[in-house]
Amino acid sequence: MSQECTHDCSTCSQKCGEQQSFLEATNDLSEVKNVIAVVSGKGGVGKSLVTSLMAVEMKRRGHKTAILDADITGPSIPKLFGIHESARGDDFGLYPAVTKTGIELMSLNLLTENETDPVVWRGPVIAGAVKQFWTDVIWSEVDYMFVDMPPGTGDVPLTVFQSLHVKGIIMVASPQEMVSMIVEKAVNMAKLMNIPILGLVENMSYFKCPDCGKTHEIFGKSRLTENAEKFVIETTARIPIDPALSSQCDSGVIELYEGDWMEDICKKLEGI
Ligand code: ADP
Repeated sequence: MSQECTHDCSTCSQKCGEQQSFLEATNDLSEVKNVIAVVSGKGGVGKSLVTSLMAVEMKRRGHKTAILDADITGPSIPKLFGIHESARGDDFGLYPAVTKTGIELMSLNLLTENETDPVVWRGPVIAGAVKQFWTDVIWSEVDYMFVDMPPGTGDVPLTVFQSLHVKGIIMVASPQEMVSMIVEKAVNMAKLMNIPILGLVENMSYFKCPDCGKTHEIFGKSRLTENAEKFVIETTARIPIDPALSSQCDSGVIELYEGDWMEDICKKLEGI
């Protein structure tokens, strides 16, 4: 900012102040084409699960995919893929772990001595770590990178939206959240950041009884369509409560999941 700054950008040719870009470059050896942030208003609604399903599904569809686990204080991505090794690094940067089907991933769990070590860091340090996952990690050619965001609208989401080249957002909510202000807050943050919401996912939307085949809306009537219309989100997905899913998460074999719930959102991403 120049010393003569009048704070009136409309009469100034300098690219500073409000026109300043906080975008960060990746490692010179990385190539990341599309970054998609997966967000939720609250924890425990299945955001990490949806992040993983999207990466697995897009990989199955022939795209090179990666996951950047930005949920620094509650990282769960490596566990879903059964990854327990530590990340390697050299003078060029840090190398992501690679899952059985070839999805690259980076998470703080790959950097702590023990997986159970808590991360007791202040906000700016946490945000700095997320930025380094973008700038220092050597991501090979990645078509779609999914960023598992921490819940809410704090420091890390702001850092991700400002520093990474995020093309779009996938929003995850449970049926209960669909009737609260939580979704609206996340939608408003996306608007503020000027990033389009490419999909709205209602997780734990229903349960299909394996005995009688009937569908039960355990957490109440679905409000997915109503919310999608209200917030003008064209593409949606409903994921059932599925005991097979949770056992695949627990045993680190999420890549084996069966289900076509994410198909419409995958097609939407292929069109961007
Ligand atoms: P978040 O990232 O929002 O905190 P997670 O994706 O870690 O939530 O999910 C929390 C837990 O709920 C996980 O153990 C997962 O196995 C389980 N879970 C999430 N969605 C479903 C579902 N649709 N069916 C069964 N279990 C689920």
